[in-house]
Amino acid sequence: MKKVIFLDRDGTINEDSGFVYKIEDFKFLPKVIDSLKLLSKENFKFIIVTNQSGIGRGYYTEEDFLRFNNHIVNELLKDGIKIEKTYYCPHHPEHGVGEYKMDCTCRKPKTGLVIKAKEEFGINLLESIMIGDHPGDVEMGKKAGCKTIYVLTGHGKRHEVDSKEVNFIAKDLYEAAKWILNNK
Ligand SMILES: [Zn+2]
Repeated sequence: MKKVIFLDRDGTINEDSGFVYKIEDFKFLPKVIDSLKLLSKENFKFIIVTNQSGIGRGYYTEEDFLRFNNHIVNELLKDGIKIEKTYYCPHHPEHGVGEYKMDCTCRKPKTGLVIKAKEEFGINLLESIMIGDHPGDVEMGKKAGCKTIYVLTGHGKRHEVDSKEVNFIAKDLYEAAKWILNNK
């Protein structure tokens, strides 16, 4: 697996009401299924990379996170979309409780999650793309050598990034997918 699309999760794939982990609160953002279908037809592979400090803060457990995440992965599978793997950071340097309070190397904008993916799957990061709704997502992607797309869904609406810092600013994942297909 040479090149992949790294996807942030909350605010990029699903609605982010803040530390979301309950399945009843789960909702795909508009056109997410169509976007990922378009890309998987072109043989792009997907990996989710997500900060989950809600675990470290004690808002929900790792099991809660996994249950919610498996739900998303399974919903996507119903439409033939495969997430190769989900990498997540449960830590927080200040608000983490107990073992979760640490200045780790995996919390975006640090690159630990994609480096781990690169090692496990043999990914060429220079040919891969990071898509997210938070400046930390694109900052991380850029540091890792990926192309970066900032989406204006989720937090994206609030924290604008400088268009010079990213390859593309997309209204949503669908616009990001179209850009990728036009620029491959
Ligand atoms: Zn971490």
